[in-house]
Amino acid sequence: MGLPWKRWGETDIMLALAWEQYEDETCPVCGEWIVECRDELTDGRWQVETVTDFAQAALDDYREQYGSEAMSGQLLALTLLKDGEAPRDGGGYDPERARAAYAQMRERLGLPDEPDDGA
Ligand SMILES: [Zn+2]
Repeated sequence: MGLPWKRWGETDIMLALAWEQYEDETCPVCGEWIVECRDELTDGRWQVETVTDFAQAALDDYREQYGSEAMSGQLLALTLLKDGEAPRDGGGYDPERARAAYAQMRERLGLPDEPDDGA
Protein backbone atom coordinates (compact mmCIF):
# COMPACT_ATOMS: atom_id res chain seq x y z
CA MET A 1 0.00 0.00 0.00
CA GLY A 2 3.04 2.26 0.13
CA LEU A 3 2.57 3.14 3.79
CA PRO A 4 5.68 4.24 5.72
CA TRP A 5 5.04 1.59 8.38
CA LYS A 6 4.82 -2.19 8.36
CA ARG A 7 1.46 -3.88 7.91
CA TRP A 8 0.05 -5.30 11.10
CA GLY A 9 0.84 -8.95 11.71
CA GLU A 10 -1.53 -11.49 13.23
CA THR A 11 -0.22 -10.72 16.75
CA ASP A 12 -0.97 -6.99 16.38
CA ILE A 13 -4.50 -7.76 15.21
CA MET A 14 -5.12 -10.25 18.03
CA LEU A 15 -3.82 -7.75 20.62
CA ALA A 16 -6.05 -4.99 19.21
CA LEU A 17 -9.07 -7.30 19.32
CA ALA A 18 -8.23 -8.33 22.90
CA TRP A 19 -7.94 -4.67 23.93
CA GLU A 20 -11.27 -3.90 22.26
CA GLN A 21 -12.90 -6.80 24.12
CA TYR A 22 -11.36 -5.65 27.42
CA GLU A 23 -12.75 -2.14 26.88
CA ASP A 24 -16.18 -3.47 25.88
CA GLU A 25 -16.38 -5.58 29.05
CA THR A 26 -15.11 -2.92 31.48
CA CYS A 27 -17.64 -0.51 33.01
CA PRO A 28 -16.81 3.10 32.08
CA VAL A 29 -18.44 4.29 35.30
CA CYS A 30 -16.86 2.14 38.02
CA GLY A 31 -14.05 0.37 36.15
CA GLU A 32 -15.19 -3.11 37.21
CA TRP A 33 -16.28 -5.92 34.88
CA ILE A 34 -19.74 -5.05 33.49
CA VAL A 35 -20.90 -8.64 33.96
CA GLU A 36 -20.29 -8.23 37.72
CA CYS A 37 -21.12 -4.58 38.48
CA ARG A 38 -24.51 -4.76 36.76
CA ASP A 39 -25.49 -8.15 38.15
CA GLU A 40 -28.23 -7.90 40.79
CA LEU A 41 -26.60 -10.79 42.63
CA THR A 42 -23.71 -8.48 43.52
CA ASP A 43 -25.99 -5.79 45.01
CA GLY A 44 -24.85 -4.99 48.53
CA ARG A 45 -21.64 -6.99 48.14
CA TRP A 46 -19.34 -4.17 47.03
CA GLN A 47 -16.87 -2.77 49.51
CA VAL A 48 -15.59 0.76 48.97
CA GLU A 49 -12.04 1.24 50.15
CA THR A 50 -9.91 4.34 50.12
CA VAL A 51 -6.34 4.32 48.92
CA THR A 52 -3.93 7.23 48.83
CA ASP A 53 -2.19 8.22 45.63
CA PHE A 54 0.90 9.93 47.09
CA ALA A 55 2.04 11.22 43.72
CA GLN A 56 -1.33 12.93 43.20
CA ALA A 57 -1.15 14.27 46.77
CA ALA A 58 2.24 15.87 45.92
CA LEU A 59 0.71 17.46 42.79
CA ASP A 60 -2.27 18.73 44.80
CA ASP A 61 0.05 20.24 47.44
CA TYR A 62 2.17 21.87 44.73
CA ARG A 63 -0.87 23.39 43.00
CA GLU A 64 -2.19 24.63 46.33
CA GLN A 65 1.14 26.36 47.04
CA TYR A 66 2.16 27.58 43.56
CA GLY A 67 -0.92 27.13 41.38
CA SER A 68 -1.41 30.72 40.25
CA GLU A 69 2.30 31.23 39.56
CA ALA A 70 2.52 28.52 36.91
CA MET A 71 3.55 29.89 33.53
CA SER A 72 1.66 29.33 30.31
CA GLY A 73 2.69 26.06 28.70
CA GLN A 74 4.31 24.77 31.85
CA LEU A 75 3.61 21.16 32.78
CA LEU A 76 4.04 19.50 36.13
CA ALA A 77 6.12 16.34 36.09
CA LEU A 78 6.66 13.82 38.86
CA THR A 79 9.93 12.18 39.82
CA LEU A 80 10.10 9.37 42.35
CA LEU A 81 13.06 10.27 44.57
CA LYS A 82 15.56 7.69 45.76
CA ASP A 83 14.98 6.23 49.19
CA GLY A 84 16.16 8.79 51.80
CA GLU A 85 16.27 11.69 49.31
CA ALA A 86 14.22 14.67 50.50
CA PRO A 87 12.01 16.68 48.15
CA ARG A 88 13.24 20.21 47.44
CA ASP A 89 10.93 22.98 48.53
CA GLY A 90 8.50 23.68 45.73
CA GLY A 91 10.07 20.92 43.68
CA GLY A 92 12.88 23.34 42.89
CA TYR A 93 10.41 25.76 41.34
CA ASP A 94 11.83 29.27 41.22
CA PRO A 95 9.33 31.77 39.79
CA GLU A 96 12.07 34.24 38.81
CA ARG A 97 14.12 31.59 37.01
CA ALA A 98 10.97 30.27 35.32
CA ARG A 99 10.02 33.77 34.10
CA ALA A 100 13.57 34.34 32.78
CA ALA A 101 13.57 30.96 30.98
CA TYR A 102 10.14 31.70 29.54
CA ALA A 103 11.25 35.14 28.26
CA GLN A 104 14.42 33.58 26.82
CA MET A 105 12.39 30.93 25.01
CA ARG A 106 10.02 33.57 23.56
CA GLU A 107 13.00 35.59 22.38
CA ARG A 108 14.62 32.51 20.80
CA LEU A 109 11.37 31.77 18.96
CA GLY A 110 11.07 35.39 17.83
CA LEU A 111 7.85 35.97 19.78
CA PRO A 112 7.09 39.46 21.06
CA ASP A 113 7.45 40.22 24.77
CA GLU A 114 4.32 39.50 26.74
CA PRO A 115 2.74 42.61 28.21
CA ASP A 116 3.45 42.95 31.92
CA ASP A 117 0.21 42.18 33.73
CA GLY A 118 1.48 44.03 36.77
CA ALA A 119 1.40 40.87 38.92
ZN1 LIG B 1 -20.03 -0.31 36.78
